[in-house]
Amino acid sequence: MNLALYGIGPEDARKWLMVDCGVSFAGPDLPGVDLILPDIRFVEKVRKDLVGILITHAHEDHYGALYDLWPRLEVPVFMSPFAAALHAAKREMEPGAPKIPTTVLQQGERRSIGPFDIELIAVSHSLPEPNAVLFRTPFGNVLHTGDWKIDPEPGVGKPIDMTRFGEIAREGVEAMICDSTNAPREGRSPSEADVAKGMAEVIGKATKRVAVTIFASNVARIRSVAQAAAANDRDVVILGRAIRRVVDVATELGMLDGLPPFRDEEAYGYLPPDKVVALITGSQGEPRAALSKIAFDEHRNVAFSAGDTVIFSSRTIPGNEKAVGAIQNALVTQGVKIVTDKDAMVHTSGHPRRDEMAELYRLIKPKVAVPVHGEAVHLAAHAELARSVGVPKVVITKNGAMLRLLPGDEPTVIEHTPVGIQVKDGSLIRAPEVSGVVERRKISFAGAVAISVVMDDRGDLVGDFAVSLFGLPHVDERDTPFRDVIAGVVEGTIESIPRQRRRDDEMVAEAIRRSVRSVVNERWGKKPICDVTVLRV
Ligand SMILES: [Zn+2]
Ligand SMILES: [Zn+2]
Repeated sequence: MNLALYGIGPEDARKWLMVDCGVSFAGPDLPGVDLILPDIRFVEKVRKDLVGILITHAHEDHYGALYDLWPRLEVPVFMSPFAAALHAAKREMEPGAPKIPTTVLQQGERRSIGPFDIELIAVSHSLPEPNAVLFRTPFGNVLHTGDWKIDPEPGVGKPIDMTRFGEIAREGVEAMICDSTNAPREGRSPSEADVAKGMAEVIGKATKRVAVTIFASNVARIRSVAQAAAANDRDVVILGRAIRRVVDVATELGMLDGLPPFRDEEAYGYLPPDKVVALITGSQGEPRAALSKIAFDEHRNVAFSAGDTVIFSSRTIPGNEKAVGAIQNALVTQGVKIVTDKDAMVHTSGHPRRDEMAELYRLIKPKVAVPVHGEAVHLAAHAELARSVGVPKVVITKNGAMLRLLPGDEPTVIEHTPVGIQVKDGSLIRAPEVSGVVERRKISFAGAVAISVVMDDRGDLVGDFAVSLFGLPHVDERDTPFRDVIAGVVEGTIESIPRQRRRDDEMVAEAIRRSVRSVVNERWGKKPICDVTVLRV
């Protein structure tokens, strides 16, 4: 959920440029929520001074919130040709998505956006056209690295432009805002070229069908798989819309030139097992993606059989281990052979490890380092590394902190802006506190009870009362239905209240609520949400 805001100028005449506008994905702690979006209250407040949104690259955690948040800002958006084409292709799939005016920027391009003098510098990552951003200001230069690694052979597109970084270093960089994802990891991330070799070896050894699951946007990986397939006289079949979309966009931009055509799902059925490699969506265990459907035998056209190989050419994002594990178990049960990055060189990270980070710091020599893009442990490892390579000042900030970088060499937090998340829940975007998701989580843990009682003026029950249970066990340990247990305490509770006080609806409701929760807790060990309505006749 990356979103950075750069400001320039005195407080009463400050202009802002947003760099990236990403989403995050909800885990089981937010039941029913599709996406997590950044809370942009502060940006909305300064909207008239926001000159644009600059996207560093086309990963969801960097540009996925545009559709939902742009309508509140309505400012020009800038991104690379690949990002713009992929964004446009995704828009076609989303009914009602806003048309966002987008200016396409090439890697290496320098231009002004309002008072911001920016230059995009090509880096390597795990998709086409990732960029770092250099800001030139009268007080000095600031480098925002975006997501990067050093890969001299990225497979598709330009490698990281170390020459340009060297020139910029000679110009001088005051502050560097840099990716922390792999800061705890020693060494260097392997090259995409190593993965291409590893992939070719695994595919070369397979005797039956091969399927490879990847992050859809990783065009270089798609290329590596296609080359390995061609070398082994196999056709590539695409299973899953997200990969189809990326292949179409990348083909249009010439990134897949020189490869045999990709085939659609129908071809999977009639190609001989040793003549096919399938590219499949769902490397993170997404239940609606092709891999999950095939693993659980729910796919309408495609099935695996014993002896087939499935290559997980991806990293499992923390939080998805269970879903991915379930798929791998289902596949193994069917006799499918699984290959992950633990077994062979079939994946590499798109982020720099320590030696790469040290190399860039030694080249750029910033006076200030600001670690970003990581959890606390990553930021701390990054800070320690930056100090060890001689960066004079390292600042770890919290989300929402407004850091005054320039002029001078004493970066200071001057303000804390409101930050947090919004959840996209069905068709609504809301703060979590008012989204109902907190209650929903409670209900998923201990269920809910709704009770309606009708009383007359004298405080006597009129007729039967209604009890509805949602998500409670049917019976307790002695086989007594919970419905009866609850009905018993409702009557008892009303009788125990002195007649005079039974005229107070709220008092009666609260007394019933307490005794119901307490008796359920006695029999079950959990307290459900309980709602009581008292009606008078
Ligand atoms: Zn990225
Ligand atoms: Zn990222």
